[in-house]
Amino acid sequence: MIVLKLGGSVITVKDKPMTPRPEAIRRLAGEIAEAGAKLILIHGGGSYGHPVASRYGIAGGYRSENQLRGFAETHQAMVKLNTLIVEALIEAGVPAIGVPPSSLIITTDGRITKLELQVIRGMLEMGLTPVLYGDAVLDTRRGFTILSGDQLASRLAVELGAERLIYGVDVDGVYTKDPKRGRGKLLERVTPSTLKELETASPTAFDVTGGMKGKVEEALRAAEMGVEVVILNAMREGIILKALRGEAVRGSWVVFDADD
Ligand code: ADP
Repeated sequence: MIVLKLGGSVITVKDKPMTPRPEAIRRLAGEIAEAGAKLILIHGGGSYGHPVASRYGIAGGYRSENQLRGFAETHQAMVKLNTLIVEALIEAGVPAIGVPPSSLIITTDGRITKLELQVIRGMLEMGLTPVLYGDAVLDTRRGFTILSGDQLASRLAVELGAERLIYGVDVDGVYTKDPKRGRGKLLERVTPSTLKELETASPTAFDVTGGMKGKVEEALRAAEMGVEVVILNAMREGIILKALRGEAVRGSWVVFDADD
């Protein structure tokens, strides 16, 4: 079984609110259909979930009643994006089913502490393809918060014993510098110590939002539990098909090396 996380930067136009990339979505659905792997798909929020969640301060937790509308709107924005993905998959021939994380998960200070797996396991056994996403969820300390698709993907990969976890983003992998801000080197292997080095050596190693850093941290958690993890560029045609088939692809392998 494989867990595939598709980043919000791949399936939406990040700086235009509620703007999908229909062509990328259709192409990726086709590659997933062609691969025919047993799979859970997770997608990010991109320009759907993020703007509304940050406007209402959902990640920071409950402070006032008017945030409830923001919680509801954040979830609903994600449901809309999820519908686009699920419809594209069904159209391509994948029996995809949208599964709302807010109905299955509770976090504690942002980390998953309750996770209902029976339904997801049953769907996989049946041959269905569950499609989850980053979502607004209840949190035992904060009231509510935002659960990232990156954390969810890593946790599901570990809990369900996935053989591979693939993070698809809009760059070729992890670089020594944010590739959108300067020229760095692609790291084909990322370990806990490379992460530490990057953080201390260079202030431009990661973007301000911590998107790639957070992703590597989540990836390392799964790698530590024996999952093969790769971060690659899902904008490149055919790469998801290859990665799902286990063929060699350009990207960063995230490896937990205890002696590292
Ligand atoms: P997504 O939302 O698609 O899952 P993120 O935006 O969270 O992805 O993370 C991917 C982005 O991280 C890339 O578009 C890239 O610009 C940025 N980034 C920042 N620092 C780095 C780095 N050192 N290596 C690679 N990408 C980086």
